[in-house]
Amino acid sequence: KGPDPGIALVQQRLSSVKYKILVLSGKGGVGKSTFTSLLARGLASDINRNVGILDIDICGPSIPRIMGVLNEQVHQSGSGWSPVVHQSGSGWSPVYVEENLAVMSIGFLLGSPDDAVIWRGPKKNGMIRQFLSEVDWGNLDYLVIDTPPGTSDEHLSATQYLLGGSQSGSGTVGAVVVTTPQEVALLDVRKELDFCKKVNLPVIGIVENMSGFICPKCKVQSEIFPPSKIGGGAEGMAKEYGVPFLGRLPLDPRLGKSCDSGEHFLESLPESPAAKSLTQILDGL
Ligand code: ADP
Repeated sequence: KGPDPGIALVQQRLSSVKYKILVLSGKGGVGKSTFTSLLARGLASDINRNVGILDIDICGPSIPRIMGVLNEQVHQSGSGWSPVVHQSGSGWSPVYVEENLAVMSIGFLLGSPDDAVIWRGPKKNGMIRQFLSEVDWGNLDYLVIDTPPGTSDEHLSATQYLLGGSQSGSGTVGAVVVTTPQEVALLDVRKELDFCKKVNLPVIGIVENMSGFICPKCKVQSEIFPPSKIGGGAEGMAKEYGVPFLGRLPLDPRLGKSCDSGEHFLESLPESPAAKSLTQILDGL
């Protein structure tokens, strides 16, 4: 059996994207999509950078809601998926949230946001290949990819297409692992890191989300989750695996609220501890 022809297609399409960042998590609900959107918004806050978000969380695409483009739909043109906002005729065009921030999600293709997507492996993989090879991003500095939780077939195929058979992705492909401080979540981080090692996907670093709660009224910080037996939490695990620890993002109800309503959290609450932590995380990338 020869190499999957999808690899060449994806490599060709994404040759105009400088960096591809896969956002991974061991479990659902730890804030992977939230972090994806914050990371992309943060990167795009520099108008000189072109940023894209690709949501391949096929079973629970939440990026359209978080990015405030829930009711957008993409349609297909002769040569691929065609634009809603920008007409280019050379593929499916993403939805532009800002001039330099584009979004493509499986959610755009569903009739209703509540449509359950129950697909078997091969169909999911075909869709991921299409998503990676047929979206017309133009020139991008960063493509941030929101993946399903865990390490499933989708991750394997996405990684295979992105790395394109090269051993290291030539420094242009990497993964950020998002976790919470809970022991159950941290244990799954091991699986993510082992997966990355196995498929030669470089790890950019680990982010600990929902790490403490700073009361917006009295500013006192409380720990929500009991301390894990894994020494040093996510930071300890990063040390153990020799990968960078990128930082902690606190629980902030205003962040959850703004994501639910598709607002730009970093712009609306730049002085919040969560926004400040995120700035630090971005600076350390
Ligand atoms: P995942 O993508 O890992 O399934 P989400 O990003 O959808 O997780 O987050 C799950 C829920 O937690 C969402 O309702 C989101 O708004 C909320 N959330 C995530 N991170 C935070 C945070 N730091 N503070 C408050 N709420 C958060």
